[in-house]
Amino acid sequence: MMLSMHACVGAAIGASTNNPFATIPAALVSHLILDSFPHTDIAHLAPLNEDGTMSNIIPKWVPIVVIFDLLLTIVIVTLGVLTYPERATSIILGAFFGILPDFQYAPKFGPWLYKQFWYKGYAWLHENGHCHFPLSYAQRFYGFHPQILCLIGGVAWLFHC
Ligand SMILES: [Zn+2]
Repeated sequence: MMLSMHACVGAAIGASTNNPFATIPAALVSHLILDSFPHTDIAHLAPLNEDGTMSNIIPKWVPIVVIFDLLLTIVIVTLGVLTYPERATSIILGAFFGILPDFQYAPKFGPWLYKQFWYKGYAWLHENGHCHFPLSYAQRFYGFHPQILCLIGGVAWLFHC
């Protein structure tokens, strides 16, 4: 799912608990719960091959969406910290651990993370817990609606706790 959505929910958990030791495991669990909602990820918007499988072609606008997602993440976390400066540590930790699982797919950090004994079980849960729409449906962008609803819910939670 979108980094901004995971970060926002993680930050809201941090703002709600204001306790780093509760925030870190709760943010990691929130990532799994959110990924289990049926959704479409940006990688699924590559054009389909004739046999219905996904091609390796990355649409030109994908990097723009990724940069927008990163900027939105920074804006949301910054606004959360400015709104609740006394809860800044928990908000930042919540956002960080909310998005950390998706870095298991990052080029250099991911392989390192996979080797950590404390991460292997979680990596398995993360990989197998995703619920994606079928590709033919995802191609129509409908699969982004759950992500946008979760993002709105996360923003509402973060700024009303
Ligand atoms: Zn994930």
